[in-house]
Amino acid sequence: MSAESVEAIVERLARDGVDVVRIGYPDLIGTERGKDVLLEQLPEVAERGVAFCRAVYYTSPRGDTVPVPGGLDRGLPDITIKPDLSTLVKLPWEPGVAHCLGDAFLPETGEPFSESPRTLLRSVAARLGELGLTGVAGPELEYFLLEPDGPNWRRYDDATGNVYVTGRKGDRGSHLLRSLRLLRDLDIGATMGNHEFSGGQFEINLHHSEAPDAADRAFRFKSAIKELARKDGLMATFMARPFTDEGGSGFHVHISCVDGDGRNVFDDPGSSYGLSSTALHAIGGILAHAPALAALLTPTINSYKRLGPDSLAPWLADWGLDNRSAMVRIPPERGAGSRVEVRLGDASANPYLGVAGLLAAVYLGIRDRVEPPGPLEGYGYDPAKAPVLPESLPEALDAFEADAALLDVLGKEFATAYVAYKRHEVQRFSRHVTDWEFQEYAYHL
Ligand code: GLU
Ligand code: MG
Ligand code: MG
Repeated sequence: MSAESVEAIVERLARDGVDVVRIGYPDLIGTERGKDVLLEQLPEVAERGVAFCRAVYYTSPRGDTVPVPGGLDRGLPDITIKPDLSTLVKLPWEPGVAHCLGDAFLPETGEPFSESPRTLLRSVAARLGELGLTGVAGPELEYFLLEPDGPNWRRYDDATGNVYVTGRKGDRGSHLLRSLRLLRDLDIGATMGNHEFSGGQFEINLHHSEAPDAADRAFRFKSAIKELARKDGLMATFMARPFTDEGGSGFHVHISCVDGDGRNVFDDPGSSYGLSSTALHAIGGILAHAPALAALLTPTINSYKRLGPDSLAPWLADWGLDNRSAMVRIPPERGAGSRVEVRLGDASANPYLGVAGLLAAVYLGIRDRVEPPGPLEGYGYDPAKAPVLPESLPEALDAFEADAALLDVLGKEFATAYVAYKRHEVQRFSRHVTDWEFQEYAYHL
């Protein structure tokens, strides 16, 4: 955190031609809620915060407000959002506007709001700190670009039959190139990008860093890509599996831990696989808590249409050495680059909650010295070899509620609010008649 006073920040921004600061608050489900604040208001806002509606709520396509728990049923009370000025950055594509992230507090007491995902992640990172460790995360996010097709959307530039890492092919508007350059100017550690396996699907990788910072950057990345696509008349979607005939979009998270000297404690050249016992315990923790983690990392009804055999997304709670069919892949690098790649998450996950869940599982695995089973060899989709992950959101929520150790690290208040929201989502879906049902039943029965 810079020691620069808010007055000095205002002067510096004004000199740089900024006259509006956009405060973005990542809510419970990872949507960015924002307010644009005139620069001259910043000192007051930094001190007192701004009021937002507390509940996660949104408006359905028909324009109705969806009544979620903790919303209108409680009178839709306020939370106070305070800008974290250490995250201020000029938006490269929006002249005169700087952006910063915000944290939520309760107006009555000034206490941190238990549903604030940034706050939650920092508290979980501190638990790992009790073991003398700092969690490091490297996020990878995949997404589809869509272009208008009459009143609907179709996959962007799909006609070219593009496949994995085919460079310029499949991107006639140079979306990837322009996004990468603008992301560099946004300074969120974007390193490289590629066309992914499916038509209109892209991936951009972010550099690794301490977990709370990595989640900030993943969150900003998603907002940035959506905004940039919108400016081009396109839509970027991070939903888990938007098309029946194409694979889904992953949120792979590379995790390692460093000690007080900055040494990667997952590395041990002398032991089997070149991984330390700490790394194996971390893997043990992630596998042991995988069913509950699904509630955070594969958080939507649609998420479970991505998971499955032969999908390059996992189906079983297993791990393997450089094995993309396993849920936890150990990339071949060792030394400072020793790490685990957790492939469970999909792009719709709230990055803060996904990383917080993983750090909590790593913490429990290391603290309780959880031994993982042996690594998977070869094909990773044999259910005789490892437990099947939850196959629906209700199943994942049941596992989440049953995982007392994980909930203890994440906090009961947060867990209760999260489950209430997600159970309500399940209930809304169960009452919704889908196109599939109409096609399947309307004509023949
Ligand atoms: N799209 C796959 C997923 O949903 C991952 C493909 C890859 O390995 O890049 O996780
Ligand atoms: Mg990928
Ligand atoms: Mg990956």
